[in-house]
Amino acid sequence: MNTLPPITEMERAYLDRDATYNGVFFLAVKTTGIFCRPTCPARNPLPKHVEYFPSAEAAMTAGYRACKRCRPLEWDDEPAWATALLDDIKRDPTSRITDSDLSERGIDPATVRRHFQRRYGMTFHAYARAQRMTGVLEQLDDAGTLDDAVFESGYDSHSGFRDAFVRMFGDTPGRVRNGRCVRLSWFRSPLGPLVAGATDEGICLLEFNEQERLEAQCGALRKQTGIPLVPGAHRHLDTLEEELMSYFAGSLREFTVPLLFPGTEFQRRVWEGLLAIPYGETRSYEQLAVDIGAPTAARAVGRTNGLNRISIVIPCHRVVSKNGTLCGYGGGLRRKEFLLNFERSIHE
Ligand SMILES: [Zn+2]
Repeated sequence: MNTLPPITEMERAYLDRDATYNGVFFLAVKTTGIFCRPTCPARNPLPKHVEYFPSAEAAMTAGYRACKRCRPLEWDDEPAWATALLDDIKRDPTSRITDSDLSERGIDPATVRRHFQRRYGMTFHAYARAQRMTGVLEQLDDAGTLDDAVFESGYDSHSGFRDAFVRMFGDTPGRVRNGRCVRLSWFRSPLGPLVAGATDEGICLLEFNEQERLEAQCGALRKQTGIPLVPGAHRHLDTLEEELMSYFAGSLREFTVPLLFPGTEFQRRVWEGLLAIPYGETRSYEQLAVDIGAPTAARAVGRTNGLNRISIVIPCHRVVSKNGTLCGYGGGLRRKEFLLNFERSIHE
């Protein structure tokens, strides 16, 4: 089965270091015997020296070795220095690690910035700040006083703290105080990092880590639920991560993690209709409209499909146009094609 995009497209993708193609193909360089991800930071090889593969396994079978720069065998793993930094801010959320601290540890601040931007969609300092504020939020949950929380967070004044809090959570400490919030977490996947969100009721967000769409989806979610989004852990996120690993290993076809997808009555009907499309199959917008009892609303069904906030689990990738073309996909068409081909190959 050939799942590769056209050569010219793959050429453009690796020359542009287009991250939406990560996991979709791997390129191998005949002159060096090395294979890479499309986003490899190493120098661009000449197109005539490049051979393309649909999987890392295929490249290895053909005798290529994995590149040490972009490490194509790993699922976007954290480098050791990043794991150490994350451990540090988890252990002591009030600590401030500055650029000069990073340099002292022998870590280039520019590398840190790029890594966190790519992986989490924000700088390391913004990530650390978010962790700090989440710590504060948890204290408010435990009915600690605001004074204690301000002190612990390392802010010298109430007003400074209050401003930072509003910037982070979109609301004042008093109003977030009832403690309800969406916890956000980042997962690895063969298609690049995913961002997931959960409340006690269930998973309410799963998106590819691309800033523009992610911001729009987080904004919509905040508006729908009226509660802030903060980085953190949750048992539903643990379950989702396990289920996603099994899904990408080909051993899971139906997710069991609880879902939360607030919307209008029509939107909920469409998203429930998506959940009813079996693994490995597709439906057209027109069929889906009929299935949910709104046969004249194919267009609105298409629009609502695109607003799905829980990618992969609510399988909006299983909806294609009537003539079988893929149409659009929030996470990029290549990811949609990858998911459909992957499901079909497991299904057969
Ligand atoms: Zn490489």
